[in-house]
Amino acid sequence: MDITRRNEIRRLVLWGSAALALSLLVEDSWPLLVVTLAMLAFYVRQLLRLSRWLSQHQARNELPETTGVWGKIFDEIYHRLRREEQARETLEQLINRAEDSVTALRDAVVVVDRQGRIEYWNAAAQRLLGFKSPHDKRQTFTNLVRDPRLMSYLDSEDFRAPITLPSPLNESLMLEFTITRFGDGDWLVLVRDVTRLHNLEQMRKDFVANVSHELKTPLTVLKGYLETLLMTVPEEQTRLHRALNQMDQQSHRMENLVNDLLMLARLEGTEVDNQPQVIAVADMLQRHAQDAKALAATLNKTLHINLDADSTLKLRGSSLELESGFGNLITNAVKYTQTGGNISIRWWQDDQGAYMSVTDNGPGIDPKHIPRLTERFYRPDSSRVTQTGGTGLGLAIVKHVMLRHDGKLDILSNLTKGSTFTCHFPTSRISAEPLRKIN
Ligand code: ADP
Repeated sequence: MDITRRNEIRRLVLWGSAALALSLLVEDSWPLLVVTLAMLAFYVRQLLRLSRWLSQHQARNELPETTGVWGKIFDEIYHRLRREEQARETLEQLINRAEDSVTALRDAVVVVDRQGRIEYWNAAAQRLLGFKSPHDKRQTFTNLVRDPRLMSYLDSEDFRAPITLPSPLNESLMLEFTITRFGDGDWLVLVRDVTRLHNLEQMRKDFVANVSHELKTPLTVLKGYLETLLMTVPEEQTRLHRALNQMDQQSHRMENLVNDLLMLARLEGTEVDNQPQVIAVADMLQRHAQDAKALAATLNKTLHINLDADSTLKLRGSSLELESGFGNLITNAVKYTQTGGNISIRWWQDDQGAYMSVTDNGPGIDPKHIPRLTERFYRPDSSRVTQTGGTGLGLAIVKHVMLRHDGKLDILSNLTKGSTFTCHFPTSRISAEPLRKIN
């Protein structure tokens, strides 16, 4: 027991004994009563002072003057309140500092709750997205940034890659939205102004598209003359004939390159058609299988080409793009598989969607190259290119076509064991249109 408490008890005992002694002396109880009442009055007064002080308390208010155990109680409460106040001040400073740094950010920061309503945004969000305080507080995020692409991005709940959209304030401002989930289903939306990057990228695309387009006319002229020369120059002039043949082959290669570049520019630079066609993929693959046989014959190869396609399964998409994508995969199989090899083309569905696959037992690809195979001009083996005269753009085209059809390209391959390229389309791309009966 500490000294203050001991003194208090001692004082109580002393006063009590004195009052008792006096009561015994005068043979009456009034001294005891008077002392008890006086002590009660003293305690009640201290309690009232404490209560008054607490109700008006501010950490800087001086403590009421008192002694003994009451002084100690007052002191203890005072110090606890001071400590709490200091902790609150430190926390407030920390929050203010965090808020100041978020406000100073050039990128917009928006906090959206699980119902999709805006809880917080910084100054950059006002500038980039036009949010106004306090009017827009608790408004639905997608009501303020209205864009069907954002809606479907949010519905997909796949936020691994950011999405780039024009600002709702100014169409020429391109913004990149990165969404991170936190807490109980809330989102942290980071919005970055990528207009400069976007414009540079657009310039690059336009440049490639324009150059490719400009190359088309001179190439056609050259090819025309070469064909005429090849027909008119007598075969006995072997050296000249060989030179003309090589020029003809290279001009064909150049033409393919220009066409592939134009196709890529189209795939990158145009909006996806939101009214897709219904495509009879089995018929399309039938035509490709025929073309593959013709190509094998031109290349002097004997290949066993097998087609297994579900003719009831139709796809919603762009026929031009799928023609090009599937054509590239089938042409590659023919180009790279050695004579006597097998090529199997399949088209089927399961509960995950629809699939088109091309399998060959050709030379295969070292798995270490597979992640980069769809990059433009990436070739694992440059000697194959010289032999086959490819453009190095075929798989980049397939990847873009698949992206535009909400699907993906899977590649399975091993050196010497052959390859399987599978185009996977989501179920949403399968056409539910009833089949028309052809009589
Ligand atoms: P390319 O015009 O060179 O064929 P692609 O983009 O179509 O360009 O293919 C990239 C590379 O992938 C090819 O150069 C080739 O090395 C490899 N490749 C593609 N398809 C096959 C296949 N079926 N078998 C083996 N290698 C392949």
